[in-house]
Amino acid sequence: MAHLDPILEDHYATVLARNPGEGEFHQAVLEVLETLAPVVTRHPEYTDQSVIERICEPERQLIFRVPWVDDKGNVQVNRAFRVEFNSALGPYKGGMRFHPSVYLGIVKFLGFEQIFKNALTGMPIGGGKGGSDFDPKGRSDGEVMRFCQSLMTELYRHLGEYTDVPAGDIGVGEREIGYLFGQYKRITNRYESGVLTGKGLAYGGSQVRKEATGFGTVFFTEQMLAAANKSISGKRVVVSGSGNVAIYAAQKAADLGAQVVACSDSSGYVYDGAGLDVDLLRQVKEVDRARISAYADERGSAKFVEGGSVWDVPCEVALPCATQNELGVEAARTLVANGVLAVAEGANMPCTPDAAHVFRDSGVLFAPGKAANAGGVATSALEMQQNASRDSWTFKHTEERLHQIMAGIHEGCATAAEEYGAPGDYVTGANIAGFLKVADAMLAHGVV
Ligand code: GLU
Repeated sequence: MAHLDPILEDHYATVLARNPGEGEFHQAVLEVLETLAPVVTRHPEYTDQSVIERICEPERQLIFRVPWVDDKGNVQVNRAFRVEFNSALGPYKGGMRFHPSVYLGIVKFLGFEQIFKNALTGMPIGGGKGGSDFDPKGRSDGEVMRFCQSLMTELYRHLGEYTDVPAGDIGVGEREIGYLFGQYKRITNRYESGVLTGKGLAYGGSQVRKEATGFGTVFFTEQMLAAANKSISGKRVVVSGSGNVAIYAAQKAADLGAQVVACSDSSGYVYDGAGLDVDLLRQVKEVDRARISAYADERGSAKFVEGGSVWDVPCEVALPCATQNELGVEAARTLVANGVLAVAEGANMPCTPDAAHVFRDSGVLFAPGKAANAGGVATSALEMQQNASRDSWTFKHTEERLHQIMAGIHEGCATAAEEYGAPGDYVTGANIAGFLKVADAMLAHGVV
């Protein structure tokens, strides 16, 4: 175990005892606790009021059965979750993930991260997360619809624009949000636009929401590089993944003059020395829902490397945008040896703790996911704001707001890191800045 202050060590032991077998959740908690020693020293009131122990325990955890009928007429059963983690700053807010790996420990790790991420955005949103072990891969639209309808038939009673507001995550995009919204509307007989975010533009969605996580990750990277008198322009960028986050991170990096040379999926990666063609990537992954090798089949300048690690491709900027613990210590060492300058986590916790330490110890600029990928949820909060005022903003205005928010998060992390004795350490800065905001609201609310 890492070296923790004795008070924090006690909290961690409680988390381990209360949540057996939930490795990802333990990892996410430890990452935060490791940085909070100067906070507990300076603020005994948090310890007196058991704020840390309360933050580590979700306010409510829901687990429910989702039965549905597949195209062959067979009954299928999945399990779904919603962890309503912390509502000190606003309604629970966070995505739903549909992936066979989903279990309570994954949902809790994501929900825990979401508390601090949402706090960093400065928007009035609490933290939550949900998901199911349902695998949308290979399922027809009709099957996905029936699954979503069945899931919402239970979940609706726990939601509300002032209560809990889900959105997408891995496996949940505009199609799934549409089906979930339709069922919520039908069951409740309420057109409650602000109950879900990531909606289609036709019925209350926000401009830039789809692009926001990827764009925001690049905006944060830009801020980090600028603070070190560098720029993303002219740099080689490698992105892992090829979903929503990766595609729009690649697009924004290219727009800012970077050369995006590689991206990946679970089958391998493509290297494209001419710079990724984002439209083709979107066609292959979003429209055709095909393997990344189809990109290389279509484009002469690209080569597909089956089963290879995308982190073998030399670059100055690495953007892990696939999934948790995808970038381990070996890959981190390779990136450092190849001269990487900045790493920003577009996904949630994509770097293992050891990999993150390799970057931080080597002087690489390292942005943790809860800061770097907060643009997605921040734009969800902008979607809620537009829904509440029955308004819709232009792309340009919404992107400007996103840019401001990311600059604010960068500033908040840098300042907290400086004030708590870790200048330039964005991990410490993000954890402390996010924690202080939530902790102060919890103190103000009393023991609830
Ligand atoms: N799933 C995204 C995240 O990890 C977005 C959540 C949201 O928009 O509520 O932050």
